[in-house]
Amino acid sequence: MAHIRIEAVGGYGEVGKNMTAIHIDDETIICDMGMHMDHLLTHIPDSDLASHSREDMIRMEIIPDDSHIDVKRVKAIIPSHGHLDHIAGIPYLESRYNCPIYATPFTAEVLKRQFKDNGFKRKNKIFSVLYGKQIKLSEKITIEFVYVTHSVPHSSIVAIHTPYGTVCYANDYKFDDEPLGEISDYKRLKEIGKNCVCLISECLYARKEGRTPFEAHVKEQLAELMYKYNKKGIFVTTFTSHITRLQMIYDIAKSMKRKVMFLGRSLDKYALSAKFAKVTNMVDGVEMYPYKSQIKRKLKNLGNDKKNYVIVLTGHQAEEHAVLNSMLNGKLPNPFAPDDLFIFSCNIIPTDAIQKARAELELKLEKTHMVVHKDIHVSGHAHIDDLQMLVKMLKPKVVIPSHGTQEMMDAYVKNVAIPLKIEVKQIHTGESVKIA
Ligand SMILES: [Zn+2]
Repeated sequence: MAHIRIEAVGGYGEVGKNMTAIHIDDETIICDMGMHMDHLLTHIPDSDLASHSREDMIRMEIIPDDSHIDVKRVKAIIPSHGHLDHIAGIPYLESRYNCPIYATPFTAEVLKRQFKDNGFKRKNKIFSVLYGKQIKLSEKITIEFVYVTHSVPHSSIVAIHTPYGTVCYANDYKFDDEPLGEISDYKRLKEIGKNCVCLISECLYARKEGRTPFEAHVKEQLAELMYKYNKKGIFVTTFTSHITRLQMIYDIAKSMKRKVMFLGRSLDKYALSAKFAKVTNMVDGVEMYPYKSQIKRKLKNLGNDKKNYVIVLTGHQAEEHAVLNSMLNGKLPNPFAPDDLFIFSCNIIPTDAIQKARAELELKLEKTHMVVHKDIHVSGHAHIDDLQMLVKMLKPKVVIPSHGTQEMMDAYVKNVAIPLKIEVKQIHTGESVKIA
C-alpha cells in the first residue's frame, strides 16, 4: 500500500497559483496557496482584492481550486516564501481549514499584511518559525524550513519528515554563493539527503544553461551606473519584495552621500515587513511616502533637492496605478528631467498583458529624454546547474518538476533528471501520484 501521495493542486503545467497537497497515510500537509499573477492582472487590474469571493477567484483561475480537499485531514498550511504566487491565495482559502499556518518570519509578516492591507478576516493562526526548528505536526509528521537563496528574504525548502522518508518542497530557489546575506544551508540539505524519498522542484529556468548569476554582479552594475550620473537625478524601480536589491540601492546611495526616498504602497509594505521580521532596518534610514497625497506634496516642493536623493518608485511592470505610470500620466507631479538616470532593476515578466503595457510605458519614458537602463537584474530562479546541485545534495528517489509550463517540465526531465539518472514523475494541476 502506498503511504505518500503528491497532489498537484496548482502550478503544474502553468506558471502561478502554486499549491501542493502532500498526503501521508490519512493526513495532509499543504505547501503554498498562491495566485496566478497574469490571470489576476487580466481579470482584476485595479487590484481591489477583497471585493472578490473565493468562488469567483477560483472560477477566474486566479487561485487554486482546492474544493475537493478533505480539510479535516490537513495538519498545516506551509507557505515556502513570501512571493504572491505562493501566498496570496491563502486569504481566500484558509477559512475552510482548521489548522495552523507555519512560515519563516519575513513570509509570516508579509502574509499578515496581505490580510490586513486588503481587509481580509483571518481564521487560522500564523506562526513565525526560525530555520532549523523541527515542528512536530502529528505522530508521523515533522517539518522544518531549510534556508536557500532566492529573490525575497527568508526563502526556504520545506522538508517534511515521515516514517517513509523525507519529502522536500523546493519552490523557489537559486544557489547564490556571493549573496548580500548568508549562502544556502548546503550542510543541512546534504544531511536530509540521507533519507529523501521525493523532491518537488521548481523548473522555471530548466532551459537555461549553467549557474544562475549571483546578485553581486548586479551590485557592481548598479554602482557603476549610479556613480556615473552622480550630478543628475537618479531614479530606480525594482521588485518591491526584493529586499536584497533595495538594500543594495540604499547602500550605494548612502556611499554617494545621497538620501533615499521610497515612493509607493508596495515598497512600504515590504520594507516594513523586513524590519519587523528583523531582516534589515533599512526602512529607518529611508523617507517613505506610501500614499499618493504624500507623494504629491513631496514632489511639488522637491526642486533641485532631487539631486540629493536616490528615488525608488513602484511600477517596473507598468502597473497602471503604480507611481511611475501615475507620474507619466500626469496624475502625480513629473520630476524627470533630460539626462537624469532611470534604472529598471528587474526583468519584464513575459506575459502578453505586461509586455504590451511596458512597451507603452517606455514610449512615454522616451519623451522625458532621460537615460534609461533596462534589465539591470539577475534572476532568483535556478538554472540547470543549480537544479542539478539540489538533486545531487538531496539524492531523492523520485523528482517531480513543478512551478512551470509543460515545456519547462519537459526541460527539467531532459536537462536534470535524465543526466543524473533520477526517476521522474510528471503531474499536472488536478492530478496526483503515489511515491512511497
Ligand atoms: Zn518566488
